[in-house]
Amino acid sequence: MSANTDICGKGECAGGFSFAEARASLEKENDAIRRRSARHGIWFAVAVYVAFALPDRWLIPDVAPVTIAVRFVVAVIALLSFETLRFVNAKTVWLDVTCALALLLGYAGWLCPAIETRDVAAMSYYMIFGAIFMMGANLFFSFPFRLSVATSSLVLCTFFITITAVFPSSQSFKVAFGLFYVSCFVFTSFVNWRLNAERQKVLHNAAEARHQQWEATERGRALLELSHTDYLTGIGNRRALDRRLDECWSEWTTQHRNFSVFLIDVDFFKRFNDRYGHLEGDRCLTVVANALKGVVEASEGMIGRYGGEEFIVVMPIDTPKAAMIVAERIRVEVELLAIAHDERPDDTCIVTVSVGVAFTREQSGEKVERLVREADLALYSAKASGRNCIRHFDPALPRPHDSAGKLVPLLAAAIDRKLVSLVYQPIFDVTNEKARAVEALMRLRMPDGTAVSPKIFIPVAERTGAILELGRWAIETACREILMTDRMATVSVNVSPIQLRSPGFAASVADILSGCGVSGSRLALEVTEGLDMDMQSEVLRCITDLRTLGVEIWLDDFGSGFAGLSWLRAIEFQTVKVDRTFLHDCSTPRGLTMLTDMIALIRNRGNTIVVEGVETEAQLSLLKGLRIDRVQGFHMGMPVSAELLNAA
Ligand code: GH3
Ligand code: MG
Ligand code: MG
Repeated sequence: MSANTDICGKGECAGGFSFAEARASLEKENDAIRRRSARHGIWFAVAVYVAFALPDRWLIPDVAPVTIAVRFVVAVIALLSFETLRFVNAKTVWLDVTCALALLLGYAGWLCPAIETRDVAAMSYYMIFGAIFMMGANLFFSFPFRLSVATSSLVLCTFFITITAVFPSSQSFKVAFGLFYVSCFVFTSFVNWRLNAERQKVLHNAAEARHQQWEATERGRALLELSHTDYLTGIGNRRALDRRLDECWSEWTTQHRNFSVFLIDVDFFKRFNDRYGHLEGDRCLTVVANALKGVVEASEGMIGRYGGEEFIVVMPIDTPKAAMIVAERIRVEVELLAIAHDERPDDTCIVTVSVGVAFTREQSGEKVERLVREADLALYSAKASGRNCIRHFDPALPRPHDSAGKLVPLLAAAIDRKLVSLVYQPIFDVTNEKARAVEALMRLRMPDGTAVSPKIFIPVAERTGAILELGRWAIETACREILMTDRMATVSVNVSPIQLRSPGFAASVADILSGCGVSGSRLALEVTEGLDMDMQSEVLRCITDLRTLGVEIWLDDFGSGFAGLSWLRAIEFQTVKVDRTFLHDCSTPRGLTMLTDMIALIRNRGNTIVVEGVETEAQLSLLKGLRIDRVQGFHMGMPVSAELLNAA
């Protein structure tokens, strides 16, 4: 058998390198075993060979001194050669050749002096032991097949030359012993061939088994990797990220190693799909994912797809400030991709992302889920702040209302289904107690007629972006219902910071005004000083544009937040509406002082003052005493529909 042919055939189909590698490593292990067994073999064989000095003395005593001397000399030469070769780390085949030569030398070295004996009869029996050398070559040592056969053939030849040419022997001796030697040669060679074939087969099977085991391990590894990979984008999936989160969490709890969780959501992605198709949507997600992967992995973070068009990043990071820098890098990276998205309601025309950031902190509770939840709330706040921005978790952030989920589809269709309407609350001049302005207030009803509080649906509309369309609709409706009928001189409409930040808002207001044919100076837009309102240049630019149209800008709920004074300093408001709580606190001297001081402050800036929440005659008299310009409240007038207002 040719082991090589067999192996090459398998090797090709089994993946070449790894099968060959398995076989090579097995051969190496096998080689070590063969070296050890060759050493044991030669020492044992030499011992037996030397021990046969005794039979020499009994059977052929006349030549025994010489044969015994030869036995010792051969023994020393064989062992010395073997050990030297082993010491110099010669190849195993040379150790085998040494053993084979020792066998031949041992046989010939003994035979030559032994046949000189005078006791021919004893020697003729004794010669049978020559077969032992043949057996040794074929069966005792583990020589390669060709070396075994060559060695035993030489033993056989030596025997035949001896009995035919040198040793005086009878014809029957020659035939009987010749046949015995030949049979012995054939038989042991055959067994040797079988043994060698068997050995090769075992080696081959073992190599294949090892290769298969390797393949199974590889397959397992690949499967594991696959189970941690997102099928669409090729980045990690939620499972992989959950594992990383757990690792970071345990490092935080045991070693106090800080880390950040970033939730990244593609803005208005539903509209992207609607406009360009799901396939293009998938491509967009893949491009975004891989761009982010570059940014994140450069900072030793890990990114994964958290679901849908939302990604999560987990990154060991030292300070919240550094986390915000990374978040901004993430946001900018997507912006720089400049993937077209012209179906957005906010007039930006490329794909952007909003990022929510949470940073490890002592109060973060027992579980890592809490941190993810905080990142989610921060993301929610980023969405509510107009998208394409980053926000970090703040315990004071508004929380999404439970019913928000149901409201999302409702708000998207609210205008078409006429679920949204406006009511108007009069704003009275204190001097003549006449209303010359009204504030438009948005109302939403569920399809079954139940009213939803603006406190609930406005934040949801801000988060989903529905506020942009609802806001535009409100301005247009107020202009049509109030200004076009000339019922009131002015109408004020509340606007969200998101509207002010969305490009093209001022232009859309200009469109509405010219569409309705009314002057901009009759429209007022109320801006609330909210927690989320930061002085962004887009907002300031938008307000300047609106002022160019003549539109008034009113500051709503003044004093209810922290940023009122900075707003007052940065923007020239025509009217400031004092938050109702200041009027309600006036029953105490401290509250009254507070209101008086505030009014003095606003008046010094030259703004018109409106006080909201007038509910009693006493409050009205107080405000008259304080020479307030305008008032608003249930005591003066409830919010009513346009029809009722016009009918009044
Ligand atoms: P927002 O700015 O508030 O995040 O708006 P949005 O439209 O991105 O958010 P919303 O959660 O309403 O919609 C997410 C959309 O993402 C809905 C779904 O069609 C799309 N989406 C989710 N997973 C995949 C996806 O694997 N492939 C594609 N093409 N679209 C997906
Ligand atoms: Mg989403
Ligand atoms: Mg989205």
